[in-house]
Amino acid sequence: MQVSSAELLAAARSYQCAVGAFNIYNLEGVKAVIGAAEALHSPVVLQIHPAALTFGERPLIALCLAAADQATVPVSIHLDHCSSADAISLALEAGMRSIMVDGSQLDYEANRSFTSEQTAQIHTRGGVVEAELGRISGSEDGLSVPEREARMTDPILAADYVAQTGVDMLAVCIGNVHGRYRGEVQFDFGRLAAIRKSVSIPLVLHGTSGVPNELVRRCIDLGVCKFNVNTELREAYMNVLRQTHHDLIDVMTAAVAAMQAVVSEKLRLFNSVGLADALSK
Ligand SMILES: [Zn+2]
Repeated sequence: MQVSSAELLAAARSYQCAVGAFNIYNLEGVKAVIGAAEALHSPVVLQIHPAALTFGERPLIALCLAAADQATVPVSIHLDHCSSADAISLALEAGMRSIMVDGSQLDYEANRSFTSEQTAQIHTRGGVVEAELGRISGSEDGLSVPEREARMTDPILAADYVAQTGVDMLAVCIGNVHGRYRGEVQFDFGRLAAIRKSVSIPLVLHGTSGVPNELVRRCIDLGVCKFNVNTELREAYMNVLRQTHHDLIDVMTAAVAAMQAVVSEKLRLFNSVGLADALSK
């Protein structure tokens, strides 16, 4: 069944776990995520990146909505990292009601005004908004430690940002990066705790591929209730393509199985197994 991201994150928060938000690009991705969620009685977020939306357009959204409606567990459909007002309008028109408004490339004032404007529009349509303060770097960016720290979320500014924009979930930067980590993962947990104190809305963490399990659990303890997962699913799919198959259905079936294994492992790590049953009570 289709539910609001806000409802999922609120449930995760009260049960001290986190919801997995998995980036999908096609039918195989959708089948893998929902297959794992149903088998483990966990809610999930099906997440579409704007690059996938540019490719799949409205039929991709329709696929996700239809799959969510048919699922035996709660599913929300979320638009990831969207910095384009046009793409936000398209997503709303096509029935999406959970959107990450990404103004993180802008300076603080411009981020705040872009996010406020888009949030008002999304709220009018009954949707919810994730936004990012600070800026999540890519593992390929090759930033120095001071450069990375300058991009981290400021707890004091976060309180102002959330109050001024009215967003519903906040993606934080505490040393997390998109893609694969090079070297040891170093999260600023003091900063995460300070952000948790200064804002009351649910917190989101991007860039969890390759993060040791104990660090992920510590993030959950400190209030993160949504994790984005993209890189590991893509890798699982790409690995299948490198194997020899003689039939297209075999490729698709193997891709679903490989991605479903990744999703299942994450749902266990995020401790959301069984949460669907708690939600339906
Ligand atoms: Zn991200």
